[in-house]
Amino acid sequence: MTSILSEETRVRDEIAEVGKSLFDRCFTFGSTGNISARLSTGEMLMTPTNASMGSLDPARLSKFTAEGVHSGGDKPTKEAFLHQCMYCARKKAGAVVHLHSTHAVAVSILDGLDPDDVLPPLTAYYAMRVGRLPLVPYFAPGDVALADAVRERAGRSHAVLLANHGPVVAGQTLKVAQYAMEELEETAKLFLLLRGERLRLLTSEQVNSLRLT
Ligand SMILES: [Zn+2]
Repeated sequence: MTSILSEETRVRDEIAEVGKSLFDRCFTFGSTGNISARLSTGEMLMTPTNASMGSLDPARLSKFTAEGVHSGGDKPTKEAFLHQCMYCARKKAGAVVHLHSTHAVAVSILDGLDPDDVLPPLTAYYAMRVGRLPLVPYFAPGDVALADAVRERAGRSHAVLLANHGPVVAGQTLKVAQYAMEELEETAKLFLLLRGERLRLLTSEQVNSLRLT
């Protein structure tokens, strides 16, 4: 019992630390974005609705049972289902980060994207930490069809981009999910900076060799 409690305390503190770090560096703003982590019991902790990531109270995070039922803490975000879809499709995921980060959202609004893989392999770290980024078509907030669309694509990739909305990234740990999300946002920024330029992308051979390391 003691070890379960200490794991939960540690995860609560880590969610608040990661939230503040992302907020302080302008990866998120206002009360947008949400972070969750799955405990070894299968229960989930998630940032609540209307909470600024810059000032999260670890004791007030929304808690869910392994079946996804709200069981404690503040009122959950309306985007909780996005996290639950990622965990459902990715059994080994221990954390999920969803942001409305400016450059990734800007890319999500561009016309003519490849829906199977939005960003090209610009750098080795993008290829290693994010890899493939499918685009989830736009659905109005609360539309249940969005859940199915996310779940389907999350089965094939740990990162997805919601059209006209923002990215959702899962990772085995919160740090892994955070770093992949930061890599995605910075690569989206590079992609926008380089629009109209002739590019020398990583070849598929170079990308494949990275996946083996
Ligand atoms: Zn959102």
